[in-house]
Amino acid sequence: MATITITGVEGRKFDVPTGLFINNEFVPAKSGATVSLENPASGAKLGDIASAEAADVDEAVKAAETAYKTVWSQTLPEQRRNLLNKLADLMERDAAELASIEAVDAGILYRDSFGMAVPQAVETCRYYAGWADKLDGDSLSLAMGMAYTRREPFGVCAAIVPWNAPLMITSWKLAPALAAGNCLIIKTPEIAPLYGQKLAMLVKEAGFPPGVVSILCGLGSVAGQRLAEHPDIHKLSFTGSAAVGRAILAASARTNLKKVTLELGGKGPSIVFDDADWNNALFWTTAGITMNNGQICAAGSRIYVQESIYQKFIEQFSAMSRDAVAGDPLLSTTTKGPLVSQRQKDTVMNLIKAGREQGTKILHGGDDSELDPKGHFVPNTAFVDVGADSTIMRQEVFGPVASIASFKTEEEVVALANDSHYGLAAAVFSNDINKAIRVSNALEVGQVTVNMWGVVTANTAFGGYKESGMGRDLGKEALDGWTQVKSVKVHLLKANI
Ligand code: NAD
Repeated sequence: MATITITGVEGRKFDVPTGLFINNEFVPAKSGATVSLENPASGAKLGDIASAEAADVDEAVKAAETAYKTVWSQTLPEQRRNLLNKLADLMERDAAELASIEAVDAGILYRDSFGMAVPQAVETCRYYAGWADKLDGDSLSLAMGMAYTRREPFGVCAAIVPWNAPLMITSWKLAPALAAGNCLIIKTPEIAPLYGQKLAMLVKEAGFPPGVVSILCGLGSVAGQRLAEHPDIHKLSFTGSAAVGRAILAASARTNLKKVTLELGGKGPSIVFDDADWNNALFWTTAGITMNNGQICAAGSRIYVQESIYQKFIEQFSAMSRDAVAGDPLLSTTTKGPLVSQRQKDTVMNLIKAGREQGTKILHGGDDSELDPKGHFVPNTAFVDVGADSTIMRQEVFGPVASIASFKTEEEVVALANDSHYGLAAAVFSNDINKAIRVSNALEVGQVTVNMWGVVTANTAFGGYKESGMGRDLGKEALDGWTQVKSVKVHLLKANI
């Protein structure tokens, strides 16, 4: 099978296979279909890799069914634990290659991937490895005897992953799915699928039996849709846009009512009270909208600042976030990578334009004319005094664009923050612990961080309220989405003596 040679950090070269990973082998798509990949920082072509179509998805499902029936359903929890721990060790060993791939393929800063995303993925595998032999049911008493519950896997499951943090988000699905005893078919994002090719090599090296994990690059409207409609897939976990999430739910309803977990978009409020630790609040609110160019579902894209510190805050926020060194994400001197694609850049620039056209005041950014046109660079941009009803305050941008507004009271800011059809994540900055907890409890979101932004840990659940999704990744709660509960009720008969 052909390979793509990647030039990673410090010029180190390595190869990844280009095929679909089915039955622990790399194979071309049956139709020969491929997708062409480019480096978003330079526009340089990286290579072509196989693109799965319906027939390839069907083959991965058959491989998973066979693996589940013949091997995986009889594999002891301790063996699943050991395999996941081995995979974590291998990811840690090859962290520099995984982070290099995310840099050249998705435009993610190498230092962010190496320092945060890869370690988080490793930790997630280890966390769920620890759960593999602890997924016990309960024992209950009944008037006629007793009952017990079992947490059983679904068998053949699927995951569809976006491009913005592809390895980390894949680990959020792969680790709990396998720990719970499922086989998993992963569809990697067609814009940035190369991490999946490397991950597949590690899955094989770790010793997972053939068919337990399949990794397929493929178009959403082709491979993704086939997974969503497939009658023999019983659970699908999706991370991506709300529009595609709805289509997946509809496909499940039309076909076999497979269980669906959705992690969708967000328009995260970061709330800064006047008693907040100043430098800490500035650091995290800046990170919350500039990290990975704001291409983060939990991005702190709405920043509400208390009136008495508003002017000073926006001056210092601007000083901290407006100047970034745009360039090659592999270099340690770069502080801003490109957006993932020209399409994503166009979407973001159009939303900036909409903000201007509605008369919203720009604090900084908005003009890409000084950035290298070969890469998909968008300057860090902030709007101030943004009205609650303006497009830029309501719509998810998925780019480095902050919408800032002032507030007077706690009640007012809670109402502003909750005035969104999204409900994924929020951040609260205050040194008054009572206020911070009161506000956190009042926010209609699945995750609140106090005096920090966006921190995800393997042991804390992550997912959305309202239109940000259903079900949870991470934490012990994710395991509820990868198991189904069976109750066995036993009528205890009197002894026949
Ligand atoms: P997207 O919805 O376009 O694509 C996500 C995945 O879905 C890709 O793998 C794509 O190939 C696939 N897909 C596309 N059409 C499909 C279809 N008809 N059927 C099945 N699969 C299909 O999203 P994106 O542009 O890759 O990612 C950006 C969006 O994802 C943003 O809205 C962002 O907020 C959201 N996101 C959410 C989280 C979270 O955890 N909540 C994390 C990251 C991104």
